[in-house]
Amino acid sequence: MSKCQQNTPIADTGTAKQYDAIVIGAGMSGMYQLYRLRQVGLSVRVFEAGGGIGGTWYWNRYPGARFDSESYSYGYSFSEELLQEWDWSEHFAAQPETLRYLNFVADKFDLRKDIQFNSRVTAAAYDEAETCWEIAIEDGSRARARFLITALGPLSTPTMPNIEGIDRFQGESFHTGRWPHEPLDFAGKRVAVIGTGATGVQVIQEVAKTAGHLTVFQRTPNYCAPLLNRPIDAETQRKIKASYPEIFERCRESHGCFIHQADSRKALEVSAEEREAFYEKLYGEPGFGIWMGNFRDILVDQAANDTISEFMRKKIRERVKDPKVAEKLIPKDHGFGTRRVPLESEYYEVYNQANVQLVDIRETPIERITPTGIKTGDAEHAFDMIIYATGFDAITGAFDRIDIRGVGGQTLKDKWADGPRTYLGLQIAGFPNLLTLVGPHNAATFCNIPRCIEQNVDWVTALIRYMRDNDYKRVVPTVEAEEAWTEHVYEMAARMLFTKVDSWFMGINTNVPGKRKRTFLLYSGGAPLYREKCDEAAANGYAGFVLQ
Ligand SMILES: Cc1cc2nc3c(=O)[nH]c(=O)nc-3n(C[C@H](O)[C@H](O)[C@H](O)COP(=O)(O)OP(=O)(O)OC[C@H]3O[C@@H](n4cnc5c(N)ncnc54)[C@H](O)[C@@H]3O)c2cc1C
Repeated sequence: MSKCQQNTPIADTGTAKQYDAIVIGAGMSGMYQLYRLRQVGLSVRVFEAGGGIGGTWYWNRYPGARFDSESYSYGYSFSEELLQEWDWSEHFAAQPETLRYLNFVADKFDLRKDIQFNSRVTAAAYDEAETCWEIAIEDGSRARARFLITALGPLSTPTMPNIEGIDRFQGESFHTGRWPHEPLDFAGKRVAVIGTGATGVQVIQEVAKTAGHLTVFQRTPNYCAPLLNRPIDAETQRKIKASYPEIFERCRESHGCFIHQADSRKALEVSAEEREAFYEKLYGEPGFGIWMGNFRDILVDQAANDTISEFMRKKIRERVKDPKVAEKLIPKDHGFGTRRVPLESEYYEVYNQANVQLVDIRETPIERITPTGIKTGDAEHAFDMIIYATGFDAITGAFDRIDIRGVGGQTLKDKWADGPRTYLGLQIAGFPNLLTLVGPHNAATFCNIPRCIEQNVDWVTALIRYMRDNDYKRVVPTVEAEEAWTEHVYEMAARMLFTKVDSWFMGINTNVPGKRKRTFLLYSGGAPLYREKCDEAAANGYAGFVLQ
């Protein structure tokens, strides 16, 4: 592949190192992209902000962090040898095991030699004259490549709440997405957890086991469903290894690439008794079956959704002893499955413990963090430790934090000011040779993510191989293709009930300026349709793209 010449769109100091492709991020996406591009014979450099590989599983070390996907459906599928060599110990593995797995993958395929750690990319500029991208790294160094591939992560930019006084707290405080590498002890301590999303639910269950006193500050309650995790015994391990092709085929066929396939019936087609029995069955089964394997209309039809929401409310009332606390834990402003469903093990029972208190901050808002604790409208709470489980600036957050400039110096942030516009969630008009893995409007955003990562990476790799074989240097989508895709994304979304609810699915994050207006970030047409659209474009000579 011909190299780009030295040019200096970002700074004119020193010589930038040159590669065929630069990948930003060394999570599951970046690692697999590196592996594939090496096979095509490209020189590749991966730049990673963290000190090790693994992305999500490197950063999120909080107690309780674990899969909601079945472990054996989450791992990479590309290497039969890898599948046979690795034993998952639990149906839903915990973070340390997943990080061990990813390090095992990095060792097996010798990935680290092309990854540069502790290297946050701050800017990326397209050099039209040379058809190249130049990136700037935090330490002032630069690098250039024909292709720039972002593998930034959908949930990699933690957000702190907008509360006065956070810096003045004198105890220990941590965001779950930036958890320390050393183990923390909660025994006897007065601990606060702010946030009750998927992460909050996981960390609360663990901290409640040993904390002297735990106070949970909840703004939005969620419908949490049982995880029902258990170890994988030797016989099950053998069966899993023998049936990987079927497991991945099942994932391929389902809407979100989970092993759970939606039921072909509609919720109101069956009798009330039959419906109740089906919900009981799903509630007694592990994982996302109750979300992804439910009646096919619960996420699109309000009347159908009301039936499962009422069922979940009943479960909360049964499990929480104090009726007043139970009412606080019951969502009132959205239906089941219209926000990310946290999976739990004894979460609701935590609120029956004498050492746990729930504070509803919609009733008594947090006024400020004080040097010794948290001041709400009606009380002053003293703490030794505050845990912020306040989530991420989802999907576009990591893009917003890099100054990305395309043709004519246009910034991506400006281009996406009213919401993302992409073609296939993989490329952007005006930003040639920039490819966005797991980016907005890509099926990977609403997926058992590694299954979609493999599809994204394989598609991008095939495009690059095609360009090399046909001597093309530049690929960019047409404005028309981008408009049509954006319209398709919105059409697919219109039928979904979650477009009527404020959540990160809809680009809402009240802790981030400019993210209070609903914009659709996901692709909700399902992975099979998405794959079909990507394959169709490729089969038609990359229809919708201009290749030069
Ligand atoms: C707690 C938690 C649990 C999850 N559980 C599941 C699950 O059960 N099933 C599921 O499908 N998904 C789950 N996810 C989603 C998870 O993010 C994906 O499954 C997957 O790990 C994404 O991989 P990735 O490589 O695309 O992104 P990431 O793993 O987020 O990696 C992105 C990397 O890019 C780096 N980066 C970002 N910006 C820059 C920059 N400017 N310069 C340099 N480096 C940069 C980051 O440091 C990070 O290491 C979970 C997410 C979280 C937070």
